[in-house]
Amino acid sequence: MTREADENHRLREQMAALTREAANNEAILRRSQQRELALMHAETLADLLVGLTRGLGDSFGLSDVTVVLCDPQHEVRHLLANSGALSSELDSVIFVDSMAGLTPTVANLRKTWLGPYSAADHQLILPSETKLASVAILPLMRHGRLVGSMNFGSADPERFTRDLSTDFLNHLAAVAAFCLENAVNREKLVRAGLTDVLTGWYNRRYLQSRMREEIILARRYNQTLVCLLLDIDSFKDINDSHGHIAGDTVLREVAHRVKGQIRGSDVPARFGGDELAVLLPHTDEAAGVRMAERIRKAVSSTPISLDPRNAVTVTVSVGVAEDKPRRGREEPDLIGEALLQEADAALYRSKSEGRDRVRTPPPE
Ligand code: GH3
Ligand code: MG
Repeated sequence: MTREADENHRLREQMAALTREAANNEAILRRSQQRELALMHAETLADLLVGLTRGLGDSFGLSDVTVVLCDPQHEVRHLLANSGALSSELDSVIFVDSMAGLTPTVANLRKTWLGPYSAADHQLILPSETKLASVAILPLMRHGRLVGSMNFGSADPERFTRDLSTDFLNHLAAVAAFCLENAVNREKLVRAGLTDVLTGWYNRRYLQSRMREEIILARRYNQTLVCLLLDIDSFKDINDSHGHIAGDTVLREVAHRVKGQIRGSDVPARFGGDELAVLLPHTDEAAGVRMAERIRKAVSSTPISLDPRNAVTVTVSVGVAEDKPRRGREEPDLIGEALLQEADAALYRSKSEGRDRVRTPPPE
């Protein structure tokens, strides 16, 4: 009888514990759904990033939450800078040019990782002032590619252990990656004018449509058209040794110096990262090369001042290509594409022959 009573008591206790656990799980689920909804409703990219760092930190009771974002073209950084977001609000967002620069444990991550903190692996992504003991790293994946990570650090060694279930964290990471992509696209749409915000030059989209018009005009009036493609030499080193802001200053100043050499009827555009394009109507290859030489000298002749105490001398490599009528390629968009490809091949040639030089495309 006593044995039966004991057994009953034990079962009742077990039942109560299970009920408590279920209630607890339900509360966690509700809270996490609320958190995810809040992320989905973030108005701006900056709000979303604050939600992913400070917001999640607050709701998980964690002092260390960071987000690593892969931003090879510095696009996200510019969107944020131009949206007036405060850098102090975003100090837990770490931008990298490529995930490959991080330790392999992070760069090769495909699933949430939980485990002990190791300075060698985690210091870069969780630069904490407190002593961390365990971490959770959630890869942010979009279209099968690793685009960043969310990183949680805790001083409690038991907080993130390998045997903890990662279902909820995987879900959170998927939602976060989706929200980030949406917010970046939304922000881009808002700013999708025809100019580049950093240089004030036309952007690539404009260049492509203008190229079509210039090709049509050149063919109609039997005139020549030249495309210059310029790329700053070792620009990455400037970013690495002086910082992204200094890199921006250099880009702006190079654009300014190029602009000083060209005519009002020429079409300057920021082609991408540190690559600038200029369309020169009514110009043949020889005149294009002379212009490119003038530009090259104007860029490298005087150092660019970064602040009152620092200045850097930068050089550019330039590819020059002239539009030549080709049989079977009469569609203006295709001609434009071919011209850009030739300018790119010429640029590649000037890079591989030692940089700081002007080149035309290699012979076919
Ligand atoms: P190379 O001589 O071969 O051109 O060397 P590079 O270092 O210039 O090489 P690469 O073209 O690979 O590097 C360009 C770098 O420009 C990579 C990226 O981090 C940086 N970048 C791209 N856009 C921006 C920007 O708007 N601002 C800043 N500061 N950096 C940018
Ligand atoms: Mg470059």
